Amino acid sequence: MHNPRPRLASEQVSAIVVGAGAAGIAVVGNLLELLHPDSVVLWVDPNFQGGRISASYREVPSNTRAKLFVEYALAVEAFKEIAEKTPKPNGISALQELEPEETCPLEHAANSLLTLTSGLSKHPRVRISYATVADPQWSSASSSWNMRIDENGGTVNYVEAPIVVYCTGSTPTVSPLPAAMLSQPMNLDLDIALRPTNLRVQLPRNRPICVGVIGASHSAILVLMNLVQLRVNSHPDLSVRWFTRRKNLRYAVDKGDWILFDNTGLKGISAQFARDQLEGDKISEGPISEIITQVLCAGGPDKEIAAYTQELPACDYLVQAVGYTRNPLPGIHDSLRFNHETGRFMENMANNPVPGLFGAGIAFPERVVDRAGNVEMSVGFIKFMRFLKRVMPAWVKEYNDSKADDLYD
Ligand SMILES: Cc1cc2nc3c(=O)[nH]c(=O)nc-3n(C[C@H](O)[C@H](O)[C@H](O)COP(=O)(O)OP(=O)(O)OC[C@H]3O[C@@H](n4cnc5c(N)ncnc54)[C@H](O)[C@@H]3O)c2cc1C
Repeated sequence: MHNPRPRLASEQVSAIVVGAGAAGIAVVGNLLELLHPDSVVLWVDPNFQGGRISASYREVPSNTRAKLFVEYALAVEAFKEIAEKTPKPNGISALQELEPEETCPLEHAANSLLTLTSGLSKHPRVRISYATVADPQWSSASSSWNMRIDENGGTVNYVEAPIVVYCTGSTPTVSPLPAAMLSQPMNLDLDIALRPTNLRVQLPRNRPICVGVIGASHSAILVLMNLVQLRVNSHPDLSVRWFTRRKNLRYAVDKGDWILFDNTGLKGISAQFARDQLEGDKISEGPISEIITQVLCAGGPDKEIAAYTQELPACDYLVQAVGYTRNPLPGIHDSLRFNHETGRFMENMANNPVPGLFGAGIAFPERVVDRAGNVEMSVGFIKFMRFLKRVMPAWVKEYNDSKADDLYD
């Protein structure tokens, strides 16, 4: 990352924001508020389509109440202007029409991201590039990052900026299965399983099939819900094996002025389904037991491997809902560590902040400790926004201070 030979930059900007999902949008909005009024932000994404929520999860029920999406969509001045100036109905006005205390299909959240993206891309201080970034190199001489921008059309540019923010998102984790298994089920992508319309066409309906589902989080429970619906509506020969480490599911609990397990507990429709269908004897004796067989994998890695080895060969397909892994960051060394309190990257050994390099979003969330002492990663539109409002003034201060110094030089 430290450059032996300086590369020529075709352009200099105040900041480069990488990624145009919920986090990248929030970062651009905050930068416009915090940076010098003559600053320019370069915003890079290959699609500018609202990130993963819009690309993959439109059909998924939210785990957040509609009012929190509205709070996010109006959280900074630039967003408010977009909401006012975009002809109605638009993605934000449609959100405002929803019942504020209820959850909603993520389609609504996705449409608000598209409205914000369109508005920000027309902002006079934002330059957008349909591209991916790679190979950042720090120049001490200019106190800037020199970033390679690979445009979708094949052109390569180099751009310099003192501030770079990665909001590059994460992808469902797929873990290796025990090698000793006689036959392995086909991997069914979590993103497909979360989308009922895709799932319906992906799974054959002319023969008995068994789908394994690993996990007990929000995503896993949504997949179970989708599979049960499929069995009822179109796939009468479908059965499900549900591999879970948890006998007792974890729910978010509203404590009045705080929420226990706010980030890891089930909420909304998935919590309702779990309470109604999966708890206690219902999973083994209720009507759902004709569709879902629970396989408990508690007791440590050896027991888990034994359960997989015995039960997975009966599955034709397997959905792994076991978490999300950061997307690759081309050119960023593995030795860098992300500081979940400040949003900065750190040099691992020295534990010094890397100058001008920051992260946000599902790949780089804030770490929070709730009042009961539980440590969680804080993931969600409004959580990204609140974290950024807390940490970004410090990110930008160094740059604004140096601009002010320039004026007096
Ligand atoms: C199933 C599911 C349901 C969720 N439900 C909710 C909910 O109800 N409410 C809520 O608030 N949150 C929810 N979330 C959490 C969170 O809001 C989303 O995960 C959100 O999509 C995260 O936004 P992001 O910007 O961090 O990442 P993403 O949306 O993944 O966006 C990352 C962007 O970075 C771009 N990118 C990646 N690499 C590069 C590169 N090298 N160069 C340029 N661009 C790059 C990608 O093209 C993409 O556009 C949910 C998450 C999941 C997985």
